[in-house]
Amino acid sequence: MKRIAALLAFLLVPSFAAKAQAKVRVVSTLQDFASIAQSIGGDLIEADSLAKGYQDPHFVDAKPSFILKLSRADLLIVAGLELEIGYLPPLIDQSRNAKLHPGSPGYLDVSQGCDILERPAGQVTRAMGDVHPYGNPHYWTDPDNGRVIARSIAAKLSALDSAHRAAYEKNLAAFEAKLAEKDKEWLAKMAPFAGAKIVTFHRSWPNFAKHFKLEVVGEIEPKPGIPPSPSHTLEIINLVNSEKIRVILVEPYFDLKTPKYIAEKTGSTMVVAYPSVGGVPEIKDYFSLFDINLDALVKELGGAKP
Ligand SMILES: [Zn+2]
Repeated sequence: MKRIAALLAFLLVPSFAAKAQAKVRVVSTLQDFASIAQSIGGDLIEADSLAKGYQDPHFVDAKPSFILKLSRADLLIVAGLELEIGYLPPLIDQSRNAKLHPGSPGYLDVSQGCDILERPAGQVTRAMGDVHPYGNPHYWTDPDNGRVIARSIAAKLSALDSAHRAAYEKNLAAFEAKLAEKDKEWLAKMAPFAGAKIVTFHRSWPNFAKHFKLEVVGEIEPKPGIPPSPSHTLEIINLVNSEKIRVILVEPYFDLKTPKYIAEKTGSTMVVAYPSVGGVPEIKDYFSLFDINLDALVKELGGAKP
């Protein structure tokens, strides 16, 4: 009997030790969510993303490594609103990880509870290729939504790993405190430009514009996901001239030819702005995402009027 107990102890101890050290494996579609998750999870989790911040989040090339990442994950964090419809569903199937299927405990759609703009009033269609059929999926560009996303992630980590609930709650409180402090700084920086009108390439910025009191008056894409056409480009040139628009915001993954042409024709300035963490290496977390984009915007909005 003694020998059996000793044997049992021998067998059990290593597995308990391994369990105590096991980290929650988090995979997100966007780097933004992995970054927020890392702030909440700290050493208790491992967070990685499928898409990189310099890629168009609608059109991500699936790699075999994505399937491996998903097969090992405990939690998958997605933007939802069909942002990932073009690449994610087959990857979830191929990962053979039942935990990550929509509706399973390891699947978290962080659009829940966020302020989602441009929700369709009528029947949902993908008419003319509109890639925002359920409302604008770029909602993480508003720090108020960032707070909601952080809370959703903290609640999910606490549910999956309840032994560490206190740590997740403490880290969430620290994240929220820093976000509140940074947001005050960002709003003060943008206050002189309240109501400034801008044009953007894709409809990536309505939540950002709402929070920072900018007005997006037009997009270079005729509809989200549809490349610029000559007639629409001409309309935008006329709009930029008549509204005296100074700044054209362009995401880094689009062809810069049309925005450059519009800027040349109108004397406005093209500003490359990054919708996601990882857009450039300096944007290393959710806070530097706003630091860097707002600095670039203020530089152009704050110059002498033409
Ligand atoms: Zn979009």
